[in-house]
Amino acid sequence: MRARRVLRAAARYRSWSMTVYLDHAATTPLDPGVHEAMGPYLEAEFGNPSSLHGFGRTARAGVEAAREQVAGALGVAPLEVLFTSGGTESDNQAVKGIAWAGREAGRGAHLVTTAIEHHAVLESVEWLVDHQGFTATVVGVGADGVVDPERLLDAVRDDTVLVSVMAANNELGTIQPLDAIGPALSERGVALHTDAVQAFGRAPLPLDDWRVGALALSAHKFNGPKGVGVLVLRRDLPAQPVLHGGGQERGVRSGTLNAAGIVGCGAAAELTASTMNTEVPRLRALRDQLLDGLLGVGGVAVNGSPDRRLPHNAHVAVNGCDGEALLLALDAAGVAASTGSACQSGAAEPSHVLTAVGADPDVAHLRLTCGRTTTTPDIDRAVAAFTEAVKRLRDAGGGGFG
Ligand code: PLP
Repeated sequence: MRARRVLRAAARYRSWSMTVYLDHAATTPLDPGVHEAMGPYLEAEFGNPSSLHGFGRTARAGVEAAREQVAGALGVAPLEVLFTSGGTESDNQAVKGIAWAGREAGRGAHLVTTAIEHHAVLESVEWLVDHQGFTATVVGVGADGVVDPERLLDAVRDDTVLVSVMAANNELGTIQPLDAIGPALSERGVALHTDAVQAFGRAPLPLDDWRVGALALSAHKFNGPKGVGVLVLRRDLPAQPVLHGGGQERGVRSGTLNAAGIVGCGAAAELTASTMNTEVPRLRALRDQLLDGLLGVGGVAVNGSPDRRLPHNAHVAVNGCDGEALLLALDAAGVAASTGSACQSGAAEPSHVLTAVGADPDVAHLRLTCGRTTTTPDIDRAVAAFTEAVKRLRDAGGGGFG
């Protein structure tokens, strides 16, 4: 039985390792060291971190060590790190919780965000407007996928209780000017939440300099496990809980803590922060090699700012091809890519981000994102597969999707 299971796992691993995985913005593989760190908490150390007996105390120690690892990686105090179920929950908790607390304190009921936020932020804002009596200003971005800080700050009013601007966009990888936004908001006493799910480990996040009040991370985007997130909530920023119950995590996030996942999140955060100095230039070199290859095909252009973008992200518009047909042709050639954000793939409509930057809906848009496991031969294979697929689709008149 066990031998068969191992053989099946090995076959799966072989087929995974034969595919060139260039979709690290959608999710990343679990790092083997992170997996090892989680192991004991999935088996013998199964205690509830809230229990007072030995099992509980061991699990609690694992959680608190992970909290320190995450705090160290972000330069915040451990008590400002709260664990959640992922980026979606962290964004919901930050946006709704800070908005509710701000209104309760009599500060107002107006929110500001940008048109390219993840749906976890945009739909939380929309829900507060539709069902909770808030008003909101959604600020557009330039054709380069970057918000103009002046335009954003102009939208802030005396009754604004929260501004939410992502650190970097999940589709285009464009880095937002939080250095110009955060300090100006702080002077006006307005809280800033940032979704740093894509930026963590790929771009600097000087939270103190930017006066960030709340920040969201997701472990599976930095070689940690799925279903674990981080919400940094500064100690002086009040937030109402979204989930009520046992009062865990400073009373902001009730629910039995996922000790194994949290330990994995801590290990992955430490690995990410401690290798950033070498990983960022390595990813940039791979991405640049990839872009050179893609642009060399002709009729291919970069979407979004070429400079203000994450080092692992290549996002291109490809003339004369259908996006889905191109993605499927690449998949058949053993290259995993994305037409936009993961939740949008398969949708015929261009994503809200591509719409916000005025991207041409009649050409293919492709996102390729490198990661810790990406190698130079991977890029060579991806460029060869892309060149062949584009040629075939163009010869066939686009790909037959109309
Ligand atoms: N925010 C951004 C920018 C993301 O890219 C994602 C995931 O795609 C999320 C939030 C949601 O994170 P999670 O998958 O952990 O819910």
